[in-house]
Amino acid sequence: MRALQYRTIGAAPELVDIPTPTPGPGQVLVKVTAAGVCHSDEFLMSLPEDQYTYGLPLTLGHEGAGTIDAVGPGVTGLTIGESVLVYGPWGCGRCYPCSKGEENYCERAAELGIKPPGLGAPGAMADYLLVDDARHLVPLGDLDPVASVSLTDAGLTPYHAIKKSLPKLVPGSVAVVIGAGGLGHVAIQMLRALAPCTVVAVDTSEDKRALARKVGAHHAVASDESAEEQILGLTGGRKVDVVFDFVSIDPTTDLASRLVGVGGEIVLVGVGPGAVKVGFFSTPWEASARAPYWGSRSELIEVIELARAGKIKVEVEAFGLDQGPKAYERLAAGTIPGRAVIVP
Ligand code: NAD
Ligand code: ZN
Ligand code: ZN
Repeated sequence: MRALQYRTIGAAPELVDIPTPTPGPGQVLVKVTAAGVCHSDEFLMSLPEDQYTYGLPLTLGHEGAGTIDAVGPGVTGLTIGESVLVYGPWGCGRCYPCSKGEENYCERAAELGIKPPGLGAPGAMADYLLVDDARHLVPLGDLDPVASVSLTDAGLTPYHAIKKSLPKLVPGSVAVVIGAGGLGHVAIQMLRALAPCTVVAVDTSEDKRALARKVGAHHAVASDESAEEQILGLTGGRKVDVVFDFVSIDPTTDLASRLVGVGGEIVLVGVGPGAVKVGFFSTPWEASARAPYWGSRSELIEVIELARAGKIKVEVEAFGLDQGPKAYERLAAGTIPGRAVIVP
C-alpha cells in the first residue's frame, strides 16, 4: 500500500510503498477514506534529532477516517464496510483517566509504549490504517468522511478546551480566539454554538481573519501591537473572560496575559514555546491558565453530534496522497483556508 512517511530528520515527507498490515488479535484494519493535516505534524518534523521521539520512518496522519476492511481474532460488533472516525489519543483503556474515556490523559501510555497513530504508531496517511482496538472507532453514519475527518482533532481539541470554560462564557462575556487556522476556525463555530459570548478572532493573516468572520466571529483583528487596544475598543474596555491561544508563542501569550480579566482564563492549545505567568502580582485576581491536550472519547461523539446538527463545519481543501508534501508546504506557507485533508 502507499503511505506518506516522514523518513529523514529535516526532510519533507515521502510517498512510499509498504506492506499492507494484517490485523492481529483485537485489532481492526481500516481502509482510509480521509486523513487530516495538522500543524502538529509540521511541529514534529521541525524538531532536531535529539528532541525527536516519534520514531522513523513515521507514517503521518493523526486525524483518520475510513471503512472497516478486516478485523483481527476476537473483534466483534463491527460491520465490514462501516464508515468510522478514528479516536486518536490512544491509551491503555484501563487506568482511571482511560476509564472515564480520557485516553488523552492515560497514565500508562508512556510506560506501555502506546502511541497515537501518526504520532508514533503508523498513521492514517496511507491506503490502510491499523487501529489497535475497536473502542477507538466511532461510527460516522452518513456524514462525509472528507468533511468530517478533522473533527477527530481540529474539532475534538478545541471542543475539549472550550467545554471546561463554558461556565465563564455567560451572556455579555467575551472570548478571544488567537489563530483562526485548522483548530481556531472550528473553535469559533463551537463558541457561537455553545455560548452567548462575543467572539473576537485574532490572526496575522487577512485571509484567516476573513475566514473567522465567515464562520461566525463577531470581530477579527490583526495580530500586531495594536491588537489589545483594538479588542478593548470593541468590548467597551471590558477585559476578556477566556482567551484561547492556538499559537502560543511569546507575542500571543503576552497578548493573552494583557487581555485576561478578573476571574478569566487563558487556554494554551498551541504547541509553541510561549507561557503565561500566573500570580498575585502578575494576573488579575482569580485569573487562571491551563494547557489542555486533545480530548476524550465521549467528547468526540459530542463533536460529531454538533457536526450532524449542522452547528459546525470544517472548511476543507482536499489533496491526493501523492500531493501530501504539497499540502504540508501550503500549511507552512499559511495558505490553507481551514484544514487540508488527504484523500487516498
Ligand atoms: P494552523 O497552521 O492551521 O493555524 C494556525 C493559525 O495561527 C493560522 O491561521 C495562522 O495564520 C495563525 N497565526 C500564526 N501566527 C500567529 C500570531 N502570531 N498571531 C495570531 N495568529 C497567528 O494550525 P492548527 O493545525 O490549527 O494548529 C494550531 C496549534 O494547535 C498548533 O500549535 C498545533 O500544533 C496545536 N495543536 C495542539 C493540540 C493540543 O492537543 N493541544 C492539538 C492539535 C494541534
Ligand atoms: Zn493535531
Ligand atoms: Zn490509560
